[in-house]
Amino acid sequence: MVHNFNAGPSILPKDVLQQASESLLNFNNSGLSILEIGHRTALFEAVLHEAISLVKELMQLGSDHEVLFLHGGASTQFMQVPYNLLDEDQTAAYIDNGIWGSKAIKEARLFGNVEVVASSKDKNHTYLPKEFTTPAGAVYLHYTTNNTVEGTQWQSVPQTDLPLVADMSSDILSRQLDFNRHALIYAGAQKNIGMAGVNLLVINKNVLGKVKRKIPTILDYRIHIENGSMLNTPPVFAIYVSMLTLRWLKKMGGVAAIEKLNNQKADLFYSTLDSLPMFKGPVAKEDRSKMNAVFVMEDISLEKQFLDVAKQENLYGIKGHRSVGGFRASFYNALPLSSVEVLVQVMKDFANKVG
Ligand code: PMP
Repeated sequence: MVHNFNAGPSILPKDVLQQASESLLNFNNSGLSILEIGHRTALFEAVLHEAISLVKELMQLGSDHEVLFLHGGASTQFMQVPYNLLDEDQTAAYIDNGIWGSKAIKEARLFGNVEVVASSKDKNHTYLPKEFTTPAGAVYLHYTTNNTVEGTQWQSVPQTDLPLVADMSSDILSRQLDFNRHALIYAGAQKNIGMAGVNLLVINKNVLGKVKRKIPTILDYRIHIENGSMLNTPPVFAIYVSMLTLRWLKKMGGVAAIEKLNNQKADLFYSTLDSLPMFKGPVAKEDRSKMNAVFVMEDISLEKQFLDVAKQENLYGIKGHRSVGGFRASFYNALPLSSVEVLVQVMKDFANKVG
């Protein structure tokens, strides 16, 4: 048995993979593959509608919030958000708390003024900068709820009066959060929602239509909303896999139930980490991510040996991001507690043997 700690694309529920693979040959007993059906058929429209209504239900969204499934990775949103929300003579506030947030800042600067109101760059983004003030008249505040590479996670929504824009790519639907408090949420699907190739967007429609610039049709959120995510051919299979994953999440008991499981996994991992002097967590304890645990070894020369042992034990995807080094274990929704139990046992055994 393989234990999949990949950071993304990452583990999906077995049931989802089973159903998706059956649908590749015969979708809903239609005799056609899901890859062969038109997006404007009743067959696919049912999939899209179910996916959208599951998002609304699982996130408990109010009537102002619209749900879109759009092409492109989350990186597209680094550009599409300011394109739609930030005029050239306006200012947006950004929190710079990781590599992905820094990329979002770079893109936003192409469209208007960006003020970085807080940054954790001084300590390689190993903590979250929670104290900040925002400039008067700023049109939104952007932050990354979970920093996939550095292993930090906002435990609560930042305090601000501004409309909030959040990149939730790596922790969406993993815990209860005031989703309605956000003006705009975006997430690449390939971690907690499904497979790569589609973005989930949740947008409060009241923030749209305010910029003066002309927006190309394919990038205009309002037109996507008017067309119900069907302006052009949507990524049919990726949306189908998202729908199956959302169905699975609902069956598991929804966001509250998965949060409980995610807390158990993170508690088990971090309590073990803190009990073994051989391993270290570089991230401030209060900011530790429950989705991506970053850790290193006190003696760096042992890291290769630990990685080899992990490989023998079928622990897959724990090598750290190339910019951080060490190790990273991702505990997304679909990862069972039993995989974390194996990981911590391997760490304990290694510490006993080599320490
Ligand atoms: N934001 C975050 C928080 C991410 O983790 C990632 C990808 N790992 C991205 C944005 C970029 O996503 P994509 O590769 O889908 O563009």
